[in-house]
Amino acid sequence: MDTILVVNAGSSSVKFQIFSVEGEGDLRRQIKGQIDGIGSRPRLRASGVRGVPLAHRAYPIESVSDVSAAMGVASGWLRDELRISPMAVGHRVVHGGPDFVGPVLIDHGIVAQLERFVALAPLHQPHNLALVRSLLANFPTLPQVACFDTAFHRTRDAVSDHYAIPHQLYAEGVRRYGFHGLSYEYVAKTLPHVAPEIAKGRVIVAHLGSGASMCALKGGRSIESTMGFTALDGLPMGTRPGQIDPGVVLYLISEKGMSPAKVQDFLYRDSGLKGLSGVSNDMRELEASEDPKVKLAIDYFVYRVGLHAGMLAAALQGLDAFVFTAGIGENSIRIRARIVDQLRWLGATLNPIGNSRHMRLISGSDSCIPVYVIPTDEELMIAQHTLSLLLERPSPGVRHERAS
Ligand code: AMP
Repeated sequence: MDTILVVNAGSSSVKFQIFSVEGEGDLRRQIKGQIDGIGSRPRLRASGVRGVPLAHRAYPIESVSDVSAAMGVASGWLRDELRISPMAVGHRVVHGGPDFVGPVLIDHGIVAQLERFVALAPLHQPHNLALVRSLLANFPTLPQVACFDTAFHRTRDAVSDHYAIPHQLYAEGVRRYGFHGLSYEYVAKTLPHVAPEIAKGRVIVAHLGSGASMCALKGGRSIESTMGFTALDGLPMGTRPGQIDPGVVLYLISEKGMSPAKVQDFLYRDSGLKGLSGVSNDMRELEASEDPKVKLAIDYFVYRVGLHAGMLAAALQGLDAFVFTAGIGENSIRIRARIVDQLRWLGATLNPIGNSRHMRLISGSDSCIPVYVIPTDEELMIAQHTLSLLLERPSPGVRHERAS
């Protein structure tokens, strides 16, 4: 069986999926797994088709001390127990910088280029690249493909790509990149099957998970989004504040004496829903709490989604549909209902029964715009990109798709 391994490495976990390549180049998900608790209580958990449990086992801390060791355990398990040796690996890489407008076959030169963006995605990029490097060292002939969260947004107009700062910084790469591109790309590709006419029009997609952003799609193309140079901007998230006056950062440095590393931690790990509620970054826990600070955190989240929806509707000059996706967007009945209420001025109404049943279309019959729930599938996008690049590959050599 030809298979593709898709990996997404974080600081303390490696998530992986195996797709089989069927006739006609179709892809079928066979295995979903993860090793979490890296460096603390490592565990491998994996399931097969229709969620059939395949593995649930613990490892001694010293045998899984980093993401490379975790990948070693996962690939050993796949090879020795399931007889799976993937023909290629697709990686989620959060930041592709200004040059990468699509997926790319990885070699050492590409890794060196991507290292430059570690500081711009400190929660993800170093771990994404650590895994790439370790696979390059251990399996030098195994094709690896980097799929970027920024690439989908790279065709946006200059006005949405710039900050109002001297041009030299733009030339250096200080730009509004936008993120969650693999998720938006999946939704953009799915929408024509759900609502063909709407897919040609103006759509806001709200990717509401631990990380959260929104994207304005026009004819399936990203024209604007809430995130910018890094994945800090825009909506409040689990532990990130979203839009914040840069003056706050200056205050933290000059008045509170915080170092750059402290400010980075503050912005990436201590803010957002966690910082505002003082309770948790997890929406399920927040929804279960009666604490008034939690109420404020949820109110803030909903309010900010509404505000940014207004901004994106202005960018689109109107709105033909609104789509929810990712952990909160796909699962939280209450948050969806509250956000649709924020969109009332745009003519949106909710079908409470459809919403509570997690139906694909959750807007009321009198709604001026349809509101959809479309579960995202970033891993499938990565597997598809990986297969496409593999099929295009001329020879054992490496071809790079790069923007000029
Ligand atoms: P993601 O990053 O897409 O996996 O989404 C994670 C977020 O989705 C966390 O804040 C979870 O609390 C939230 N989430 C997942 N399931 C639910 C649910 N049933 N109700 C509310 N929030 C949920």
